[in-house]
Amino acid sequence: MPWNPIIKSRRDWETIPNLHDYEAVRKGFSWENARAELDGLPDGQGLNMAHEAVVRHATGAQAQQTAIRWLGKNGQVENYSYARLDELTNRFANVLQTLGAIKGDRVFVLAGRIPELYITALGTLKHRAVFCPLFSAFGPEPIRARLTIGQATVLVTTESLYQRKVAGIRETLPHLKHVLLIGDEQQSTDLPGTQNFHQLLEQAPSTYRIGPTDPEDAALLHFTSGTTGTPKGALHVHGAVVAHHITGTLALDFHPMDIFWCTADPGWVTGTSYGIIAPLTNRLTSIVDEADFEAERWYGILQDQRVSVWYTAPTAIRMMMKVGVALVRKYDLRRLRFLASVGEPLNPEAVVWGEQAFGRPFHDNWWQTETGGIMIANYAAMDVRPGSMGRPLPGIEAGIVKTTESGEVEVLKEPGLQGELALRPGWPSMFRSYWNEPERYKKCFAGGWYLTGDVAQKDADGYFWFVGRADDVIKTSGHLIGPFEVESVLIEHKAVAEAAVIGKPDPVAMEIVKAFVSLKDGYEPSDALRRELLGFARTRLGAAIAPKEIAFLPTLPKTRSGKIMRRLLKARELGLPEGDTSTLEA
Ligand code: AMP
Repeated sequence: MPWNPIIKSRRDWETIPNLHDYEAVRKGFSWENARAELDGLPDGQGLNMAHEAVVRHATGAQAQQTAIRWLGKNGQVENYSYARLDELTNRFANVLQTLGAIKGDRVFVLAGRIPELYITALGTLKHRAVFCPLFSAFGPEPIRARLTIGQATVLVTTESLYQRKVAGIRETLPHLKHVLLIGDEQQSTDLPGTQNFHQLLEQAPSTYRIGPTDPEDAALLHFTSGTTGTPKGALHVHGAVVAHHITGTLALDFHPMDIFWCTADPGWVTGTSYGIIAPLTNRLTSIVDEADFEAERWYGILQDQRVSVWYTAPTAIRMMMKVGVALVRKYDLRRLRFLASVGEPLNPEAVVWGEQAFGRPFHDNWWQTETGGIMIANYAAMDVRPGSMGRPLPGIEAGIVKTTESGEVEVLKEPGLQGELALRPGWPSMFRSYWNEPERYKKCFAGGWYLTGDVAQKDADGYFWFVGRADDVIKTSGHLIGPFEVESVLIEHKAVAEAAVIGKPDPVAMEIVKAFVSLKDGYEPSDALRRELLGFARTRLGAAIAPKEIAFLPTLPKTRSGKIMRRLLKARELGLPEGDTSTLEA
């Protein structure tokens, strides 16, 4: 471990927390040294994520170790060894080759957590195409928007998702050349314009040689949302694997023989960086559960699968807290040694509850789609500071900044001051662009910093504390939702004149999506219309994004220049002071 001066032997590596001395490891750390933990392609042909995750473990003694253990929602269990995963992903890379997909083409997946998703992801990376996951609870509208922006050429999905969500929008997607369907319970009927995923996989050769891969070659496209405009495709490169790998080691304290469970869905960035790549590059056994949260099921998995490192999210922790500690006590969870959480603020009570329920605290960490990997964390060897996101990873410089009216970026050095959380660019998993939107990308950087859009503060010991978002995006059950995407669909309804969407605080989901609408002449507010609008939005947007509440207003508050003031609607909803309303339309 060249980055860790204290760890000298295999035994040290197995027993000492990887980041046992923050200052020492930080001081000795360099990204070049972190890169040295990986193999690189043979003959100096570059750095490829799938090679590091799978190929290098697929020969020799480790080849039969389980890479992914898949738990189906109906009780099925399937083990994929590194060797088997290598073979299946070779086959998928060959399928892409046969279809004529070339380096850089976007291969989208719309599926739940099923083995084919993981095969597609890693096979796509081998082929040097770009893997783009879509959350399966999206409705047709968010799917259409993302496939269009990303100019998808290949889509892998299930038969039922295709029929419910894609068939109806297919003709609006001229770039989409190939749709590969995974049969659901019964084998696929022939749907026009589609091919059978498994048939193609079986027919494809089982060996594949990864071509030269520059660390700057595009690898992953993750969609995220802002306050305005369409969803943004954050592009990550193959070199990001250095950050995936080393943050797994340092922030999640991965050790050989760990059994790791990341509960996030690969439709969101955590489920890819830590649900696919990092555990495999670190040669762990990674648990994938197809089913959704259910407390007994989850504790059963932790016990039966002997999970040692568990990465989950505050919404899930709050749901467990609601069920109570007594249930946890029925399970033997002695294997569990490290618990981590990400995606939303982790309330101090949740950290304390972790101690009561599991005998260990949850370690909060912070990052976002654009950063590609964990940037700030509470580490295994340090006492958790409940309520704090922790300290920056080695190799990461974080600061609290204020942008002045003239666009200068000023670093707030004094502890306790609130400002925008900013990071010094240059870590390997930093996004390289918003797909086809260079202007939007450029706006994220100023004065030599990447500006995260989060407001935070730093204490005297260098711990960072989350304060809130600087913009109007909504976090619901850990998922980032752009209000504009929801508003755009609502105003397509014949009765709606205007719509504004806010995040309304919720004790479990953190926020729920709430919409305010004003109606066109000739329409009156009623419960029936509210239900109709809720249903309309749900059909188009899907359960993950659609508003849970809709309120009618005669008009929506606007600035004199005509912009709807979501901030004001939120303040009124929360009964808070309305702030500066000088620009409010009379
Ligand atoms: P996403 O890009 O969807 O992963 O969302 C990233 C955003 O989630 C961040 O910019 C934060 O607003 C929020 N977030 C992520 N992790 C944390 C955390 N540990 N504490 C507070 N907010 C978080």
